[in-house]
Amino acid sequence: MTHINGHAVSQLPALRPAELPLRDSDSAADLAEQITGDATGVDLQAAQRAAAAFLGALGLDLDSEELRDTPARMTQAYAELFRAHPPRLTTFPNDEGYDELVLARAIPFRTVCEHHLLPFSGVAHVAYLPGARLLGLSKLARLVEFHAARPQTQERLTRQLADYLATELSARWAGVMLEAEHTCMTLRGVRAQGAKTVTTALAGPLRTDRQRRAEFLDLAGAPS
Ligand code: ZN
Repeated sequence: MTHINGHAVSQLPALRPAELPLRDSDSAADLAEQITGDATGVDLQAAQRAAAAFLGALGLDLDSEELRDTPARMTQAYAELFRAHPPRLTTFPNDEGYDELVLARAIPFRTVCEHHLLPFSGVAHVAYLPGARLLGLSKLARLVEFHAARPQTQERLTRQLADYLATELSARWAGVMLEAEHTCMTLRGVRAQGAKTVTTALAGPLRTDRQRRAEFLDLAGAPS
């Protein structure tokens, strides 16, 4: 236990930087490319001290039984929300020449809004038209998870996912639709309970292809 502003604060172990992904063997690398993100590090103990100072400044009694461990729990919760595991995105040659949309529907995600640091969550529909390479199917969910592991706006998250597929995977067309409920809008402010925000982003050299867009919107379905 350490004491911060007169409050007992339990010590937390230092968080290891996110582990970098391992590469496949050389032979596997001939068939697969690895796309990696950035690793980040955090100082959990400094965050916990700051959380205690923050809650104390808001007039909360951190000496009370109920709140004693809240700075530590709060720190762990936000550290978990921001813990980005760089996706190990394996791609495969599109030898069969697959020439239609690949779409993963209703991938659940959660993140926090960068304006209030309150959670927003919902589902992502992610589609792409392959070029020379295909992405492992489960990797679309990993991609969403990775980009959501930081303070975000829904608009930017949508755009980042579409751009990533167009640039890193060289998809000829990419479409992303997010449907999310923002607690900063439903629990505070206008308290618009149940309101959902829908955003879409298109990317790639065939971005303006109306037929692809219509097909994508049809497959993704009307916002629920
Ligand atoms: Zn917000």
